[in-house]
Amino acid sequence: MQCSICGNKAVYEVKYNGSFLCKKHFMDFVERRVKRELRSQTARKNKNISISVGISGGKDSSVTLYLLNKIYKNRRDVNIKAFTVDEGINGYRSTGLEKAKKLSEELGIEHEIISFKENFGYTMDEIMKIDPKTISCSHCGPMRRNLMNKISMYNNSDYVALGINQDDYAQSIIMNVVKGDVQRYIRMAPHEYVRDGLVPRILPLRKIPEKEVVLYAVLAGIDFDSSWCPYYAMAQRNIFRKLIDDLENETPGSKYAIIKFFDETREPLRDYFKTSEVKLNKCIKCGSPTTGELCEVCRDIESLRELEAKP
Ligand SMILES: [Zn+2]
Ligand SMILES: [Zn+2]
Repeated sequence: MQCSICGNKAVYEVKYNGSFLCKKHFMDFVERRVKRELRSQTARKNKNISISVGISGGKDSSVTLYLLNKIYKNRRDVNIKAFTVDEGINGYRSTGLEKAKKLSEELGIEHEIISFKENFGYTMDEIMKIDPKTISCSHCGPMRRNLMNKISMYNNSDYVALGINQDDYAQSIIMNVVKGDVQRYIRMAPHEYVRDGLVPRILPLRKIPEKEVVLYAVLAGIDFDSSWCPYYAMAQRNIFRKLIDDLENETPGSKYAIIKFFDETREPLRDYFKTSEVKLNKCIKCGSPTTGELCEVCRDIESLRELEAKP
């Protein structure tokens, strides 16, 4: 097949618009959409900006860092830093960490590591031993978000950028709809607004389908970690993954349409629910923003300590 633009050998078929693209035009196509997303997601502050990029070493976050560097490298008023959260998962996190470090080094970007063990006293492996019954992600998710925010606050960043692709994003939207969780729906990233003590999250890849992210990583020669977290057993998310893939196969463009629907409804919904927005306090233990006295993570650590103390 030939590229619909230049006639060279095509590497990709864009199913949702019927065109074929060569390597160069495919990469341009991805970069153009990421640039457009960045412009709109950083509209609140787009000069003298500082961005912390969370990088796990996997394809999505590696492509995010690579593209931010490519797009902003001639902008002297944009400062990019990278960090990796080390959950302490033996055999898994170490590979990702190495790749994250290597990519940051190659791009000339400062890279830091922030760990569960140092901040919470436990590695994820230890947590799973103390509490094998609870699904790992319900400890890990809030802890990771806590550390991402902490390091981005510490870096004085205007934004924290995460590698969430179109598939992940459409899944999260539908999950919130199916749970009927309007509050969570309107608070999803990207955040154009600032709340006390919370660094707004941006998602430069949220309109790029997962398979385009993989192809981009390969074509750009990015060495990424493709292993899965050994605790990954989010059966529920897998149901949504399948559902959305089926929709996309049936009607190409469905994932895009879900995100478009979200973008058009979120703002009016937020206005409508404004009065119910709760003021955030500082957690009395760690200073993180919370609606109560203790944040979710500090409460979790307390209950882990209790569990551990039981004979
Ligand atoms: Zn071409
Ligand atoms: Zn706390």
